[in-house]
Amino acid sequence: MRPVDKGNAPKTYTDHGQARHDLAVRIGYYCSYCEMKIRNSIEVEHILPQNQGGAPLDWDNFLLSCKYCNTRKGDHNDNLDDYLWPDRDNTDLAYTYSEAEAIVPKSNLDAQLRDKAQESIDLMKLNLHSDQTTEADTRWRSRKEAWDLAQKSYTNWKAAPILAMANQIAKTSLNGHYSIWIEVFKNEPMVLTEIDKEYRKIGLFKQLDEQENRIIRAGARI
Ligand SMILES: [Zn+2]
Repeated sequence: MRPVDKGNAPKTYTDHGQARHDLAVRIGYYCSYCEMKIRNSIEVEHILPQNQGGAPLDWDNFLLSCKYCNTRKGDHNDNLDDYLWPDRDNTDLAYTYSEAEAIVPKSNLDAQLRDKAQESIDLMKLNLHSDQTTEADTRWRSRKEAWDLAQKSYTNWKAAPILAMANQIAKTSLNGHYSIWIEVFKNEPMVLTEIDKEYRKIGLFKQLDEQENRIIRAGARI
């Protein structure tokens, strides 16, 4: 789950839908949960649902979501603390992605963090496969396409491991599913650097200390 920084509210809103464009400028046209690229009808979702006490017009309570994650999430979460959130936590450090399992909590997490990471998967049902969901829920197909594209790109990279190729792959990764690209290229620092550069333009949150270790976000669990 790509960690994002929305920055401060650009303005005040009288309807949450008005924040759609501002959010997309800051964090890109991607579902904040499943990382699918959404070219049309991306939804502004309330992180804490309105009928669970969530602020209806507060920028801090907004993320962008695909229809499927938003529908699965519904109003089921009555708090934020039991989950990990991409605008609050370093969520990329919490999950492992694979073609077979889709998304699972990283094995090195302590028990408490592991539970929160799993709760977020369950809330949006991020790990459903084609035989476990409806025809309308195409998240699994989007994931599969990203795996195929990333693996094809990896073959091309091995044939021509030069900066221009790394740059091209980073641009291709903007088709969505950031975490799949990071997984496929995890041992290829030149490509990772280029992907990092592209996604930083659209709100990737990734702060390092002087020893290049990741900094835990203010108020975050990871
Ligand atoms: Zn989604």
